[in-house]
Amino acid sequence: MFDVEKIRKDFPILNREVNGKPLVYFDNAATSQTPIAVIESIVDYYSNYNANIHRGVHTLSQEATNAFEKARQKIQKHFNAKESYEIILTSGTTHGINLVASGFSSILEKGDEIIVSALEHHSNIVPWQMLCEKTGALLKVIPMTPKGELDITAYDELLSSNTKLVFVNHVSNALGTINPIKEIIDKAHQYGAAVLIDGAQATPHIKPDVQELDCEFYTCSAHKICGPTGVGMIYGKEEWLNKLPPYQGGGEMISEVTFEKTTYADLPHKFEAGTPNIAGVIAFGVALDYMNQIGFDQIESYEQELLKYATKKLLEIDDIVIYGTSENKAAVISFNFEGIHPYDIGSIIDKLGIAVRTGHHCAQPIMDYYKIPGTIRASFAFYNTKKEIDHFIEALLRAKAMLS
Ligand SMILES: *Cc1c(COP(=O)(O)O)cnc(C)c1O
Repeated sequence: MFDVEKIRKDFPILNREVNGKPLVYFDNAATSQTPIAVIESIVDYYSNYNANIHRGVHTLSQEATNAFEKARQKIQKHFNAKESYEIILTSGTTHGINLVASGFSSILEKGDEIIVSALEHHSNIVPWQMLCEKTGALLKVIPMTPKGELDITAYDELLSSNTKLVFVNHVSNALGTINPIKEIIDKAHQYGAAVLIDGAQATPHIKPDVQELDCEFYTCSAHKICGPTGVGMIYGKEEWLNKLPPYQGGGEMISEVTFEKTTYADLPHKFEAGTPNIAGVIAFGVALDYMNQIGFDQIESYEQELLKYATKKLLEIDDIVIYGTSENKAAVISFNFEGIHPYDIGSIIDKLGIAVRTGHHCAQPIMDYYKIPGTIRASFAFYNTKKEIDHFIEALLRAKAMLS
C-alpha cells in the first residue's frame, strides 16, 4: 500500500522549517529531494570503498568498479535497454543532449533538417542552433497549441526525407504536458530520422521502456529522480552509439594511438572520458531501486490525484489562469493571477515556507507564446500531500490579498 506519511520519513529535508514554517516543497521539477538510502550510499562509498574505477587491480578499485557497473545494469534494467553498454553515464540531461548534438555535427550535411518542439527547455534549443550553424542544417520547430500540446498535424508537414533528427521532451518542464512521443518517434522513422527524447521531466513520474518506444536516444538526470546532482544517463541504440564519434577528450587533440588503445575503445567507455562521478552513479542506482520499490504505477496514480486536487482548488480562486491544460499532464501546474507578477507571489509564499518556481522555467518560447513574462510553477512529487496543497492555497490567498 502507498503510505505517504511513511515515505516522508525517508526524506530528512521534509522535516525542516523555512522562515519558521514547515517546508512545503513544490519545486520538484527543478530538482527532487533525496531519500536517506541515497544519502547513505554516498556516505558508504566515501567511507568504505572510494577508489578510481576500471584502473586498479587492488581491492578497493575492484569494489568501486563493481558497484559502478552494477548501477549501470540497474539503469539498463529500469529503462529496459537491450545492452548495458547502451547506457552512457553522464553529468546529466544537458550533457546527454550535447553528446548527441556534437556527434551529429559529423553526420549532418547542408540542407539536412532537425526538428525540435516548441515546448523545449530553452537551454536545450541552443545545442541544436549551434549544430545548425556548424553544419548548414536547418532547424524546424513543431508549434504548440493553446492547451500547451504539440501540433501533430504541423509535425506531419515538417517531416520529409531531409529530416535527420527529431528532438522532443517526453514531458514539458514548464507546463507538464506529456507529449505523444511514441507517435512522434514512429512518424520520424517513416522518414528514416533518428529521435532523441529528453526524459528529464518524465522520468520522475513515468518508467519509460526504450525498446518499446524504439527511440534512438533517451536522456535524463538523476537529480530529478531522487538521485544526486551532476549525474545522468543517455541511452543510445548500439548502432547509433557506434556511428557517433566520441564527445569528450578533445577529439583531434588526442593522438590516434592513445585514442585507440585506451578508454575510448569500446562502448560505453568511448563516451565516458575522465573519472566519472562514481559515488553519484552508484547513488543513481540506489535512487532507482528506491522508486521502483514504491512502484511507478503507485507514484503515477498518487501524483495524478495530487494534480487533480490542486487544479480543482486553484480554479476556485478568482483571476487565476492556468497554462497548459492538456488531459495528458504530469503533476506540474503553471499559473498566474491576472495583474500580479509571479515573482511577487513567489517571494511572499516563500516567507510562509513554500517553495515554488517563478519565472520562465528556461522555456522562453512558451512564455512568448502566451505573451507572459513567466508563471508560478508548482510541481509535485510522490512525497507531497493534500495537506501541503491546502497550505499552499491558503498562502496564495494571503499573497493575493496583499498584492491586489
Ligand atoms: C531539468 C531539465 C533539463 C536539464 O537537466 P540538467 O540536469 O540541468 O542537465 C533538460 N530538459 C528538461 C525538460 C528539464 O526539465
